[in-house]
Amino acid sequence: MTLTLHLDTGAWREHLRHVADTTPGLVPVAKGNGYGFGLGRLTAEVVALGADTVAVGIVQEVAVVRRAGFAGDVVVLTPWTPADGTEVLADPRVIVTVSRLADLRTLAAGHPDTRVLLEVLTSMRRHGLPTSELAQAVAIVTGSRLRVEGWTIHLPMVVSGRLAEARALASAALQQLQVPLWMSHLSADEYATLAGEVPVPLRLRVGTALWLGAPQTRRVTARVLDVHRVERGERVGYWQRRLPRSGYLVVVSGGTANGVAMEAPTAAVTPRQRMLAAASGSMEALGLALSPYRIDGKKRFFVEPPHMQSSLVFLPEDAGVAIGDEIPVEVRLTTVTVDRIDG
Ligand SMILES: *Cc1c(COP(=O)(O)O)cnc(C)c1O
Repeated sequence: MTLTLHLDTGAWREHLRHVADTTPGLVPVAKGNGYGFGLGRLTAEVVALGADTVAVGIVQEVAVVRRAGFAGDVVVLTPWTPADGTEVLADPRVIVTVSRLADLRTLAAGHPDTRVLLEVLTSMRRHGLPTSELAQAVAIVTGSRLRVEGWTIHLPMVVSGRLAEARALASAALQQLQVPLWMSHLSADEYATLAGEVPVPLRLRVGTALWLGAPQTRRVTARVLDVHRVERGERVGYWQRRLPRSGYLVVVSGGTANGVAMEAPTAAVTPRQRMLAAASGSMEALGLALSPYRIDGKKRFFVEPPHMQSSLVFLPEDAGVAIGDEIPVEVRLTTVTVDRIDG
């Protein structure tokens, strides 16, 4: 009873190698659900790539990549605050991000040997020191033993104006202290351009474009667990909904435990579409949601919200689907946890 990620490992690794070879200073990002591959698997790939540094999202993930065999430098992307505790600071190969003067002072006073990246606030308005505070930050670190590994600049995905913003913030930061720049979300071209303009080494943190590039190297399938002929008006499922049409009920692997429910797009959007759907007696008219499961080339409707590890979808015609078949599922790997990786 599994949701399977089929991976052409050879082709995927070729892509990873290509990104690594064409991105000097690459820092692979391994966080969260491991971009669908799991953090253990990503760590093994980082080791195979020979990367000297990996970036994780939160302090709890440091132990995960350590257990998975990564011995190099680990950058924690979410800025450190006292609530994160000090245990992680004991690892001399951990570099924490700091985005507030108060947190920087706390580290300088209590954990002076910490390696830090100073985060500059960008148009993301997420975390970071505004440019007006950069000089104070530098004053704190120069009066302490803190080791500044660089400035970090996390840009939005929106392309327009991004390189200009990167330049402006980099220049403001480098005026205060000449240390490496750790960038996020620059394209390969923007990164190369900036690298040619600044007098310090550049590093680029990449997650999605690295792990989830080359989409042709993978596909996700679900197994058909059961198939039942059902009649119009019959009640089915946990919620005993009446079926609008006769057809087949197909039980497929994958459910809320795998994050499949989050993949369900909503049904018909405009009132007119809804009316047309109602007139044709279709599934949308009942407010059913389209599922990510594809049978006989078409995405099929959920009969009801998915359950922990399986889902019910409706098939109006006999498409020859049989128990044990593997059917394609269109999922975003950042929101899905597969049961098995084949490859
Ligand atoms: C998650 C994260 C990244 C990686 O993002 P992708 O879009 O997956 O490449 C880079 N930088 C920071 C600061 C992040 O939090």
